[in-house]
Amino acid sequence: MSGAAIAQRSLYCYPWDVQDTASHAGELKRLGMNGVTLAVSYHAGKFLRPRAGARPRVIFPEDGVVYFEPDLARYGALRPQAHSDPALRRVLPELVADGRLAVHAWTVLLHNSRLGALHPEYTAHNAYGDRYVYSLCPMQPAVFEYAVALCGDVATRGVASVVVETPGWLPYAHGYHHEFAQVRSNVWLDTMLGLCFCDACMSAGRQANLAMSALRERVVKAVDQYLQAPVDATPVQAQAWLSADLLADGDLAALLRLRQRRVTQLVKAIRAALPATVELAVIATVQRPTAQNWQEGMDLAALAEVVDWIDVPFYEPDAAAVQSDAWDCLRRIGNSAKIRAILRPGPPDLGDGTQLAAAVAGLARLNLHQLGFYNYGMLRSAQLEALAATLAAHTAS
Ligand SMILES: [Zn+2]
Repeated sequence: MSGAAIAQRSLYCYPWDVQDTASHAGELKRLGMNGVTLAVSYHAGKFLRPRAGARPRVIFPEDGVVYFEPDLARYGALRPQAHSDPALRRVLPELVADGRLAVHAWTVLLHNSRLGALHPEYTAHNAYGDRYVYSLCPMQPAVFEYAVALCGDVATRGVASVVVETPGWLPYAHGYHHEFAQVRSNVWLDTMLGLCFCDACMSAGRQANLAMSALRERVVKAVDQYLQAPVDATPVQAQAWLSADLLADGDLAALLRLRQRRVTQLVKAIRAALPATVELAVIATVQRPTAQNWQEGMDLAALAEVVDWIDVPFYEPDAAAVQSDAWDCLRRIGNSAKIRAILRPGPPDLGDGTQLAAAVAGLARLNLHQLGFYNYGMLRSAQLEALAATLAAHTAS
């Protein structure tokens, strides 16, 4: 196996971790990278930065902003807001101008609480009518148009690819600052609470001959009964309950497939809005395992028909789990040339170099040679150096 076979070696980076673009490009080259996957549209968070001299040590980035100068003429009801610091908006054009790295524009689409707070009418609504401020609903035409416009805008910046994240519905258990519950989360409950019944979803379901009001009532009743009951599903039970419900309730299954078609339609429209020279990648999921991603409206086989790349976060604790998840993705997509893998070479994943090397070798055995690594600003120096050593050993062998 030769390391030259790792065609893409791109490190995920936040603009706030790039102090100086020329030295940053040089540093990534030294680590063995040939690409940088830079956040250009991103949500709020709280990040501990272990690098020497990193200040602030803990950073809370502005919520739901873009890290470039948006062309506002492209947008309709929903408009991006640029980060308030001009230096952070210069990182993207400077890395592109540097030219030593392929720049991949990591573009978070519908996970945007800033826009959700400004436009609650476009957010996902659960069966009870509660709005999820962190999740714009892609069934809403204004949201669809925003996502297409944002990607088209990003694509004019000289990037090699646009990497879209969250083109669909956020899962229930993701995305807000403090998620409190004294009911244990499980996949059945999360699926029921993650369904959207906003006006656009109700209308789309009815057009597909689904009895949407009755379905919404069944979901409310099932969740109400569970929350009142003196029981707590184990993970295995919840998975089985969900499978049984999907088999028993044809409209529930049909709504989930309708959501998949909508996300594929959105990603296809994004592809059509990009110049042919700019590749489009879609991040497969924000959940583990990847096959759970239908909750978000993702259909990997259908998406692979309309994008250049499916970028899959194999965020697993060991190399064996990486390989089995990758095997399943390959089974669904049917073409290793469509998959780019993302690995986390640090806790809680492949924390030691042995597991990282085994994961890289396992992916190569599945003919997966396009790799991304997460994340420059959150890894310790020792982990970045171990990553560099793994890539160098792969190249030398
Ligand atoms: Zn909706």
